[in-house]
Amino acid sequence: MMRPPPTLRIAEVFPSIKGEGLRLGEPALFIRLAGCNKRCAFCDTKVARRGGRPVSTERLVAEAVRLRRRFPCRWACLTGGEPLLQDTDRLIRGLRAEGFLVHIETNGSIPRPPAADWYSVSPKPPDYRVDPAYLRIADEVKLVVTRRLTLRNVQAVRRAFPDKTPLLLQPQSNLDWSVRRGWALVRRSLAAGLPNIRLGIQAHKILRLP
Ligand code: SF4
Repeated sequence: MMRPPPTLRIAEVFPSIKGEGLRLGEPALFIRLAGCNKRCAFCDTKVARRGGRPVSTERLVAEAVRLRRRFPCRWACLTGGEPLLQDTDRLIRGLRAEGFLVHIETNGSIPRPPAADWYSVSPKPPDYRVDPAYLRIADEVKLVVTRRLTLRNVQAVRRAFPDKTPLLLQPQSNLDWSVRRGWALVRRSLAAGLPNIRLGIQAHKILRLP
């Protein structure tokens, strides 16, 4: 009996711009994988934490190629949920074979991350720990500025990653209190001598893009 082709559970596929991080403003095709191994209270993609439609990798790559005809972008961004909870090796190989650069947004907790062209790693509370494999491959690190994020948390994450990897403090959904807290944490981080700290933003929410 032939084995069915491997499937992934997908919440949505859509074109937009990268609204966060160092690649801000860059057009990308977003592939949101369903499922997550965390339960962050501040999560803004709760609908993607479960469910999702099953799609074979081949069909997903074909869908990406079809969407690119109308929206000719270079990047495909795997996001979630936590995209690396599922086996994305074949998807990434397929996307790269079609000429996409692959960006992965991950909480950094799943061992053996696949090769990709850009890694955004966002350690999550309560312990902000990531698998050691992410410490060298992260191109940027993002921390959501919650009411509980402390300078100690920022110091611990800053110490874990190489100094050359930018650490962005990203206000939670651009809320006023979180912007103020993020700004205070940036100033306190500078005063404490922490290198390469930046304030982040969620531009897609301000611009009302998907
Ligand atoms: S890791 Fe991300 S997707 Fe998962 S619960 Fe936390 S914020 Fe939501």
